[in-house]
Amino acid sequence: MAKQGVDDYKYVGKEKFRIDKFDSADTGEFTDRAEAVDEFVHNLLKINKLQQKLYAERKEGVIFVFQAMDAAGKDGVIRTVCNTLSPHGGREYCFKVPSSEESSHDYLWRFWSAMPARGNISIFNRSYYEDVLVGKVHKLWENQILPDRMRKTDIIKQRYEQIKNFEKYLYDTGTRVIKIFLNVSKEEQARRFISRIDTEKKNWKISSGDIKERKFWDDYMEAFETMVNETSTEVNPWYVVPADHKWYARLTVSRIVLKTLEEIDPQWPVISDEELEAVQEYRKELAASLPGEYLPPVPQLPEFANPGILAAEIVENEERAKIVEKTERRKARGFRAVEELLENSPSIGSLDAIIEAIAEARDTETEFESK
Ligand code: AMP
Ligand code: MG
Repeated sequence: MAKQGVDDYKYVGKEKFRIDKFDSADTGEFTDRAEAVDEFVHNLLKINKLQQKLYAERKEGVIFVFQAMDAAGKDGVIRTVCNTLSPHGGREYCFKVPSSEESSHDYLWRFWSAMPARGNISIFNRSYYEDVLVGKVHKLWENQILPDRMRKTDIIKQRYEQIKNFEKYLYDTGTRVIKIFLNVSKEEQARRFISRIDTEKKNWKISSGDIKERKFWDDYMEAFETMVNETSTEVNPWYVVPADHKWYARLTVSRIVLKTLEEIDPQWPVISDEELEAVQEYRKELAASLPGEYLPPVPQLPEFANPGILAAEIVENEERAKIVEKTERRKARGFRAVEELLENSPSIGSLDAIIEAIAEARDTETEFESK
């Protein structure tokens, strides 16, 4: 079935999510990753620009929550898509097994310090949803010291309600919570675990804990399905993303992040006429203080920008790249390397290669110059 944007993966509490009917190997309208790279790169660029406005406007905060089984690609998605977000107004928070201090409080307590200020974005790499996932599968509350009245209720059912209310509270007070479940198949997880065991530089990623959790696969699937159905709302939706193909998961997440920011539609703050008039006076003073006539800056590609963004800028605006090529040969070399890369191996994974190509082009030039 051909997908239309990301809406087919979105749950708002109306249509039921059925995990057994979900195709985690879906690649939407694409048959190959090469077809998707152009959109992906452009999405990153648009996300980056919108974030600058979001930050400048300081009107609304956003939390992107990521949940998934082990090896579903959470970290990779965050590295490639959220890497586009400037640390200026964006930060990742990883939530692990709660510390003893954290477990001695209610389960939402540890999230308050990670809340984004308005204009900021928080990435939650795992979240309070662990308390209705691993917490549900292993009945973790049974080991906690809790008042008797809590034992008399269905703790998990209560948590769904509490989480929904918590997120509604955040929405009503200026923060959107967008939830993303990367849904990988059991077979694909097996392949990725094997690759982690076989590849030395991936060894650190696998633990015996991961293998133990895999034995509870069906319980986890039930917990994920119920979690989506119980906590999806119109304003705080869940997106269930097919995650068997990393490139498609990354593209889809880029679409979700972009769509969210487009919906917020942040605007550059406008200053009042009086203030503008006042600074115009000041501008005259500043211009008079310069030795010569003031010339506006020539548009350029930023030399120290995020390489992914640089690559996107090139695709976006070849004209600008040409200006730079004429005026700044050193930088242009890096750009040509990037262009070649995009032409020859246009894959989502090539962003890492782009970073290397830029570094290499600059290093070569620096070596050459210093001789
Ligand atoms: P990782 O993200 O792979 O480094 O693993 C973090 C681990 O912390 C996972 O096994 C999570 O299930 C676990 N974790 C996170 N939050 C909780 C929680 N509230 N209760 C129990 N385990 C948790
Ligand atoms: Mg893990």
